[in-house]
Parts: sequence; structure tokens; C-alpha cells
Amino acid sequence: MNYRSTRSTDGVSVSAAQAIKTGLAPDGGLFMPEQIPSLSEKEVLSLCKMSYPERAATVLSKYLTDYTYDELYEDASAAYSADRFLGGAAPIRPVDENVTALELWHGPTAAFKDMALQIMPRLLSRALVKTGEKRTAYILVATSGDTGKAALEGYKDIPQIKIKVFYPVDGVSKVQKLQMVSQTGNNVDVCAIRGNFDDAQTGVKNIFADRTMAERLAERNTFLSSANSINWGRLAPQIVYYVSAYCDMINAGRISYGDKLDICVPTGNFGNIFAALLAKRMGLPLGKLICASNKNNVLTDFLRTGVYNRNRAFYTTISPSMDILISSNLERLLYVTLGAEKTAAYMRSLNTDGKYALSNDELALIQKDFVGYCADEEKTAQAIRLAYEKHGYLCDSHTAVGYSCAQQYLADQKGEITPIILASTASPYKFAADVYLALTGKHSSDGLTALEDLTALTKVEIPMPLADMKNRTVRFNAVVDPDEMPDTVLAFAAD
Ligand SMILES: *Cc1c(COP(=O)(O)O)cnc(C)c1O
Repeated sequence: MNYRSTRSTDGVSVSAAQAIKTGLAPDGGLFMPEQIPSLSEKEVLSLCKMSYPERAATVLSKYLTDYTYDELYEDASAAYSADRFLGGAAPIRPVDENVTALELWHGPTAAFKDMALQIMPRLLSRALVKTGEKRTAYILVATSGDTGKAALEGYKDIPQIKIKVFYPVDGVSKVQKLQMVSQTGNNVDVCAIRGNFDDAQTGVKNIFADRTMAERLAERNTFLSSANSINWGRLAPQIVYYVSAYCDMINAGRISYGDKLDICVPTGNFGNIFAALLAKRMGLPLGKLICASNKNNVLTDFLRTGVYNRNRAFYTTISPSMDILISSNLERLLYVTLGAEKTAAYMRSLNTDGKYALSNDELALIQKDFVGYCADEEKTAQAIRLAYEKHGYLCDSHTAVGYSCAQQYLADQKGEITPIILASTASPYKFAADVYLALTGKHSSDGLTALEDLTALTKVEIPMPLADMKNRTVRFNAVVDPDEMPDTVLAFAAD
């Protein structure tokens, strides 16, 4: 199976390995498989009996056809091993009578990005071999918190790969910062930027676009690669857990094959929820996909009106990983619904005017699968309280946005209710200060004591990867101005 750009009709295609290695198509579009493979009833029923790594290898081998099953199984087994995912890779846990959480945060950084970033580096490593690449892949990441740590943890000590992460010096939480600056591994580097996330992001984009930079890195036998959520290598592993959740619901006796499940996903860049659409298009019996946004509700408006308009106020919220005005993976939805030509045209207007508007017919096609809801800060806090006080389920502030939206959606349903799978995207302890505040109305004295306050209050255990925060050794102290980023990138390439 080959991959094409979402923006071109020229028929040019590349292998999965090539798509994972390059990240972005040369015309600026995103890579998509030429067709969506199918998943039959018989296959789903046999997946029910399998372990998570077997499920992952089976689903991935339908997309990554230039990888063998054995390679994928080896990578999935290493990525989702019991010592990395202490509570299991993607367990389901009921929240209330209608909503079941799909917990995606039992990995090494306590957020769902581990589900993709534990396996993607292994897929990239194989892609280098498959494409005959002799140079070192140099991963550059700008992060507002979660992606940086998950990428560092995934890429550390992977041969022929280096990774450098930039974060805004005052723009990440205390826990997130300590997680990054204490990172272990011989091929990792972490650097703070005097500026905000946009400055870090722009700095990284400029380095990617800089020809002389590419030449100077080539002299060092190195080329740049990215780990962000538009890379197919991050998207494909996310399809697996929706299939896995369906199997686990069957295994738990909650549904029989053919029964529908609705899926609710707290959404930022639209990667996670788009993976659910792919699972549905493969044939998995899914119903509505509920796109949950926080106060930055550009997607709610889009799914209700067909108008995508990023010209609006940006809010900083207690669900920071969803504070996004340009949801990059939405481009993939446009492509599978409307084709490459229209996608390219809408992306041009997004670039020039910051907005585009679908026709009514186009919107109707998208609304067959998706509904949009949003939760402001107060609704998010209420959902944290509702889940915990009424149902004994402690959730983080991102999952809470999803839980609030699931409640709103249920209130709008007439007739029979379809069970909802809620993607739970972070451990409550990753955002302990805001969760504690929502539950008690009280502030903890700082980001680290919040962990202790929350566990004292709820008796819910702190997950292992966050339990030893106080004893970490800081390895990376560098702070630079944005214009110094290219020099520090080159310096690390020479290491
Ligand atoms: C990244 C992230 C999201 C948003 O996921 P997308 O794939 O960008 O839509 C939601 N919750 C948490 C905790 C995240 O880290």
C-alpha cells in the first residue's frame, strides 16, 4: 500500500517507510494511504483473543505493507511491554452506565502521546534501513509540554537517531519541565527558549525551511525529521486502540459484534479522533464520533456550521494540550471526504485568509460521522467533580472536557442510547494542580505538592512515572533566545 499527499492529484505515491521518514509531503500536504483497508467480523473476533501487541501488529500490517508482520510484532511488543505500560496498554474502565473510558495514559509519560511515540521511533528506525538511508535522522520538536517528553522517552537511545526538544521557558508546568530536563539517554538534548510556544514553534519551522541549515547538517551526515502528529507514523498506531476497545467491550460482555459504539475524543490537532474515523471506515461498527473541544472551540463551530475560522481569540485553559486554533489533521478529513483538489483549495484559503467555508452538501457528509461539542473552564471543572463525586472516577482536565461533551451529547439523544467510549488522554496526576482545584476549590502550594495533595484527598495512587518527581536529577539547563536556536541545533549535530 502506498501513500499520497492530501493536496495533489498527480498520482505520485511513496511507500509507508518513505512517508514515515519524510513526515510531510513535498507539496505541504499530509500523507494518506491510497485506500483504507478493511477489517471483517471474523478478523475482529480473532483480534478479541489477542494481546495488545498482536492486535497492533495485525492492524498496522494492513497499512504498513512494506513492514513484515514479525517486524511490527517485535516493535509493538517492545513499545507496549508490561514494564513500559504498567496498567496495560489501553485498558477500558467504566465511568458510568453509558460512558466507558479508554485509558491511553499508562505509558512512561502518563499521557496518550506515548501510544504513538513509543512505537513510532522503532518504525522510523526500520524506515531508515528500508530506504537505504545512511545518515542520522535528527528529530526537532517544539513542545508546549506533553509531546516533548513523550518524544524524548520514545526516541532515547534509538540508533541512528538524535532528538532535540525546545520548550518555552515559562510556558510549561513544573511537572512537565522537570520531566523533560531530567530526561535520560545518550542521543537527547533539551533546551528552553526565552519566548512562548509560538516562538519555539516558529524557530523550529524556520530551521526546517532553511536550505543552508540542511547543507550544514548534511556535512555532518545528518538530516532533519519531525515527530509531530501530522506524521503517518504517529497516526497509524492510534487506529489500533479503537479496534482494541471494541474487542475489550465484546470480551467484557458489554456488546456483541455488530453493536455500535460512539466514540468521544478530547481534541486538539484532530489526530486522535481522525484515527477513530479510520477504524470506522475499515468496517469497525462505530456510530458517531463526538469531537470534544475546550474553550478554543474552532472545531465545534466548524462541525456545526461548516465554517473553519481561526481568526478568533486564543484562550489558555486547564486543558493546554487542546489549546489549538489550527487543527492540522483536519486536512485528512477534508481529503477523505472531498478529495485532494478541494482540500488543496481550502488549505490555500486557510493560509491566506485564516478561514474557509464548506458547502451545505459537504458539511452534511462530514456530519454523517461527526458531532461537535465544547466545554468551557467551568463545565470542565464540573465534569471533574461529577465523574469523581458521583462515580468515583478521577479524570484529568482533558478527559473531563470529553466527559462534559459526552453528557451534553447524551442529553440531546432521543430513544435508545449507544454506549460511548471516552478517550481518556492523560493521567489526572499529570494535571494534578487543576484537578485538585476543581475538586476542592483550593490551590496547592506548587505543582509538585499538588500530586501529594491529590493522592491524600482521593487515595488514588500516583502513577509510577510521576511518583519520583522530587528525586530527579536535572541534566539540561540551557536557555537561549529564539535567534540562537540554529546554532544550538548545529552544535548538537556535531556531538
Ligand atoms: C495531545 C493531547 C490531546 C489532543 O489530541 P489531538 O490528537 O491533538 O487531537 C488531548 N489530550 C491530551 C492530554 C493531549 O496530550
